[in-house]
Amino acid sequence: YDAATSFRPGARFGPKAIREASVQLAELLAFPDGIDPFKTLAVTDYGDCELDYGFHGNIVSEIENHADTILDSGVEMLTFGGDHFVTYPLLRAHAKKHGPIALVHFDAHTDTYSNGSRYDHGTMFYHAPMEGLIDVEHSIQIGIRTDFDQSKHEFAVIDAMAANDLSAQTIAEQILARVGELPVYVTFDIDCLDPAFAPGTGTPVCGGLTSDKVLKILRALKGVNMVGMDVVEVSPSYDQSELTAIAAATIASELLHLW
Ligand code: MN
Ligand code: MN
Repeated sequence: YDAATSFRPGARFGPKAIREASVQLAELLAFPDGIDPFKTLAVTDYGDCELDYGFHGNIVSEIENHADTILDSGVEMLTFGGDHFVTYPLLRAHAKKHGPIALVHFDAHTDTYSNGSRYDHGTMFYHAPMEGLIDVEHSIQIGIRTDFDQSKHEFAVIDAMAANDLSAQTIAEQILARVGELPVYVTFDIDCLDPAFAPGTGTPVCGGLTSDKVLKILRALKGVNMVGMDVVEVSPSYDQSELTAIAAATIASELLHLW
């Protein structure tokens, strides 16, 4: 789904590109720990969520119901977007199961733009706290480098300038301290990465994180009480040499290792 995109659409083809790019990751065990997550975890590719483009008003409930079906069977989800809006119905499904969740949000944008009642890929985290889906007091955003109203902002923020100066270990410690014992949902908007590492996305912003920094942060989150995760906003038509898709597949793989 990519009809909630504000600028460049195309993220509906993100899952296909991430799957294709993931094939090369299967050849060798993961660096640096040599872990094969598929020896420990029972993982299945559940396929795509079918959406009726003729009924945009049903998109939220269709994704939410699809996620409910999966979660109710007793398994957990790693979801590929799609534009970032898909995280909103996913959070609804996860909060139903786990209660208010601590959100660990990697992004160039806060996605807390209020804009009244709008539902698009920049307003999910304005609506989610008001619906009790996430606990902002335990939520944190990493990589932000677009303007937001700091006086009203309740999420903790490690903006891109700070993130590029701090060590991955320090960032991970701040994340772990913020989320505490709450169930954690990790949402990774690929535009957290600098456009040099992820050009294929809807709203790229210069001055982002390196893929090296991001992978080190994720590895240092060992022990986090993760209950759900997604990787979103990969838009293959703007990609070059599968750079963005490979980055997304590697981040998704790292999340499985973390699991
Ligand atoms: Mn973004
Ligand atoms: Mn986003």
